[in-house]
Amino acid sequence: MSPVTAPDCLFCRIVAGEVPATMVAENEHAVAFRDLNPQAPVHVLVVPRDHHADVARLAAADPALLAAVVRLAEEVATLEAGGQFRLVFNTGADAGQSVFHTHGHVIGGQRLGWSPA
Ligand code: 5GP
Ligand code: ZN
Repeated sequence: MSPVTAPDCLFCRIVAGEVPATMVAENEHAVAFRDLNPQAPVHVLVVPRDHHADVARLAAADPALLAAVVRLAEEVATLEAGGQFRLVFNTGADAGQSVFHTHGHVIGGQRLGWSPA
């Protein structure tokens, strides 16, 4: 089944293969690709194939799909970061969200500091 898309959405275009990205893992529900501007040795974005604007909307609309995103994040971390990772969903512009297609940042590969604000 083709995914639910939104016009002019960068991550819908990456899911569709219209914009290139370095893929790390994927399954029928979600894809994982490297962040263009990595903040740690491992910095991978995990996105559902279907368009949902942010994680709260995704949780409300399709909780099983959110669970699939988290499972793919763990798979990436197992492949690349010894299974230990931070999973960040910036939600809203003031929280740093710049792409309004739900994405989890899988961050790891080093001992992480903590200065989220
Ligand atoms: P946000 O700021 O919405 O939480 O995260 C968006 C992320 O997408 C940023 O970390 C940014 O570096 C990344 N990004 C923006 N444009 C592209 C792109 O075209 N390709 C890839 N792979 N990452 C992108
Ligand atoms: Zn989208």
